[in-house]
Amino acid sequence: MNYFEYRHGELYCEDVPVSRIVKEVGTPCYIYSHATLLRHFRAYDSAFSSVPHVIAFAMKANSNLAVLRMMAREGSGADIVSGGELFRALKAGVPASKIVFAGVGKAPDEIREALKADILMFNVESSAEIRAINDVAASVGKKARIALRINPDVDPKTHPYISTGMKKSKFGIAADRALDEYKMASSLGHIDVVGVHAHIGSQLTDVTPFVDSLKKIVALIETLKGQGINIRYLNIGGGLGITYGDEKPPLPQDLADAISPLVKDLGVTLVMEPGRVIAGNAGIMVTKALYEKVGETKRFVIVDAAMNDLLRPSLYSAYHEIRPVNEEAGRRAKHQMDIVGPVCESGDFLAKDRLLATVEPGELLAVMSAGAYGFVMASNYNSRPRVPEVLVDGRDMHVIRVRETYDDLIKGETIPEFLQ
Ligand SMILES: *Cc1c(COP(=O)(O)O)cnc(C)c1O
Repeated sequence: MNYFEYRHGELYCEDVPVSRIVKEVGTPCYIYSHATLLRHFRAYDSAFSSVPHVIAFAMKANSNLAVLRMMAREGSGADIVSGGELFRALKAGVPASKIVFAGVGKAPDEIREALKADILMFNVESSAEIRAINDVAASVGKKARIALRINPDVDPKTHPYISTGMKKSKFGIAADRALDEYKMASSLGHIDVVGVHAHIGSQLTDVTPFVDSLKKIVALIETLKGQGINIRYLNIGGGLGITYGDEKPPLPQDLADAISPLVKDLGVTLVMEPGRVIAGNAGIMVTKALYEKVGETKRFVIVDAAMNDLLRPSLYSAYHEIRPVNEEAGRRAKHQMDIVGPVCESGDFLAKDRLLATVEPGELLAVMSAGAYGFVMASNYNSRPRVPEVLVDGRDMHVIRVRETYDDLIKGETIPEFLQ
């Protein structure tokens, strides 16, 4: 459920016509709906109301300060994967006591900053990292709370690039090594073992892999208890899928119904790291058609947004629905076409072999479901300034990130003396 719909023949975000936003900030641009973000967060939060829980929004999905502030005000924490994300989360007012830090390659400086901020815990991905965290914690005279990220070896049946919990994955610690690693971690002076973490992948459209993973984790928690290692936090990660096209993913309530019974008598606090399911369908990217090019075997519409603005189609062959902002334009004759950007790569496309109504130059197209893993993956490739982000709240629009300028493109670059 989201608040992007046609009214009076044109696409609106809540009570604001997309065309009005474009008049103000130009194209391409990202538009987020505050009411949709709120609704998604609350649906997730209330689904799990029967178990003690912390939601740590996976901010790699959308890390704009305004979005994070909004989440923090709702009581969300943050799942971070870098020192930069820690910086953003704290700036946005996310309490450190609800920040969890994942990622296979945390650098000593990042570990130190997180310890100084006193985050809830590190989700640790290897034996070497346990020792590194212990060393840094010793050097700053602290004890680091950690969970071990366990690789439960379940197949989430999603795109291989976003599947993270199988044996061949770079993520996590193999389940059969877990006990030894927990014993080792518990023996270290500056480590406080508090949790188990598992995140098996993204865009999951079935609850079964979550349940399979959780059963293995629950068994591990029981085993650890027998060894005198008491687990207080069970982190099931994120990964719930959304509807991009014709997927029918479970609702947060379905997930809660499947897993709450398995955890409610464990005496643990459930930690969850949803990203896509909160932000994905709360945002769109709007682009303008520049040219139509009808080749002998193919028809292209060239638009002003490209892979540097929205990488998902190029990176994962991801499907994003494309809608005309003017509803009437959608009733024209349909043709198979590619929607492509100006970047000089054959892999630069937003849609491939898509049956769409004819698009006239100058018309606006909305790339739907772009609120997660959209702007955050944008780059300056081809020296293209990154596009603005707008947050709509009812009848108001707020520019929450301005379009970059050419000067932004060269910020930090210098031509050394010898070349002058
Ligand atoms: C990416 C990621 C998430 C969020 O995944 P979604 O599919 O966006 O919910 C959560 N936890 C970890 C460790 C991740 O890497």
